[in-house]
Amino acid sequence: MSALVPHADLAPFLVSAALAGPLADVDHPASMYGRFIPLPGVILGSKEGLRAWTPSFGFRDGHGGRVGREILPKVILWHRAQTHSLGAAAIAAAATALLCWLFFRQALLPVTLGVCVGYLSHLALDLINISPIMLWWPFSRKTAHIRWPRIRVGSPWEWLVTAALALGMAGDGVMRLLRL
Ligand SMILES: [Zn+2]
Repeated sequence: MSALVPHADLAPFLVSAALAGPLADVDHPASMYGRFIPLPGVILGSKEGLRAWTPSFGFRDGHGGRVGREILPKVILWHRAQTHSLGAAAIAAAATALLCWLFFRQALLPVTLGVCVGYLSHLALDLINISPIMLWWPFSRKTAHIRWPRIRVGSPWEWLVTAALALGMAGDGVMRLLRL
């Protein structure tokens, strides 16, 4: 059976979806990927102003402050801003497709689809999470938020929804749809 995600490609699809799930949180110094990025973390406290972020603040925007990374001197990439957007999802998908095309061409489709599903599921969950995200960047810097039962980032629910989305995408019915 040939389809966009045939059964032989299920493993790379699911693995890339799982790996891309937490990717948007690279903008947070305590996140799964963010902790390995050697750029200074900052926190904007309500009283203290901007100061250095330390691991004691944890993952959540501690002490009511806004967390970010100083990617260039005085240029701060705030948590839940540009990386939490459809534009960033498109960049991640394009970069993945390019890397696969160069080095791993036979897995281009399942891996790129997996990254799309993983990344978008993160955005979908954060949309219904506590604080808004910059969904429409680079077209708009307005933040988006849907009021819904809270699902915390990094909770088992987030993994469950990501897994359900990934499995749903890989289902035969969806594969037939995509083949049209
Ligand atoms: Zn997030």
